[in-house]
Amino acid sequence: MSGSLAIVGIGPGADEWVTPEARALIEAATDVVGYKPYLDRLPLRTAQRRHASDNRVELDRARHAIALARAGNCVAVVSGGDPGVFAMAAAVFEALDQDGAGDLDVRVAPGVSAMQAAAARLGAPLGHDFCVISLSDNLKPWDLVARRLAAASEADFVIALYNPASKARPRRIFDAFALLRAKKDGATAVAFARAVGRSDESLVLTTLADADPSIVDMATLVLIGSSATRFVARGGAARPWLYTPRSAGGRA
Ligand code: SAH
Repeated sequence: MSGSLAIVGIGPGADEWVTPEARALIEAATDVVGYKPYLDRLPLRTAQRRHASDNRVELDRARHAIALARAGNCVAVVSGGDPGVFAMAAAVFEALDQDGAGDLDVRVAPGVSAMQAAAARLGAPLGHDFCVISLSDNLKPWDLVARRLAAASEADFVIALYNPASKARPRRIFDAFALLRAKKDGATAVAFARAVGRSDESLVLTTLADADPSIVDMATLVLIGSSATRFVARGGAARPWLYTPRSAGGRA
């Protein structure tokens, strides 16, 4: 007997950013699997079984979810943001790749990723070519992170940095800024978007030269502009908008 496995993105925090599809899949689940703070955000029924786990055991969590589904349960694995961006979907497919996928009924439900939520708050900083890099060196060597930051700077992408800092790696964001400052203009726009969509949301706009990386924590998404990213002044004390024009390289 085989059940089903839905890998569900629940957005970065705000209830209105949970899609109707995600809501329906979670409601239909007999078993909900995920990192505990994400499960705590969901209005689960008492009949629904919760399987909370630690943050750094994605592959074990994926295998547990697959086993529950193979045993006939209707399982939802939840991820913050989008499940395909540095999150559970890849862990589930990695487990299926290693152990065999068989005929398991698997479905991925997209969610609003932190970069999209941050971009919407700020204006349109991702309006032209951009790239996304996780600063975590849990699953890759720092040398590779450094090479990618250098290449992205060289190519003049807007850069979105996920996992910019954690208690175990408080200094990596300083290393990243040192590298970016060596490659890019000090006037480059920088945004620190923290806890977007949650009650403790904060947004800081600055430049590469002035940015203070010590305010960055693991709930922060860091955006580094391209050479074309611009501030748009607003009236009064309002924070300027931030956007990247749709054209580049001399095209109007
Ligand atoms: N799957 C998630 C990303 C998981 S990695 C997504 O698509 O958004 C975790 C990182 O995402 C955090 O370290 C932080 O950089 C970013 N992040 C997640 N939620 C956020 C939020 N509400 N505000 C700002 N950044 C957030």
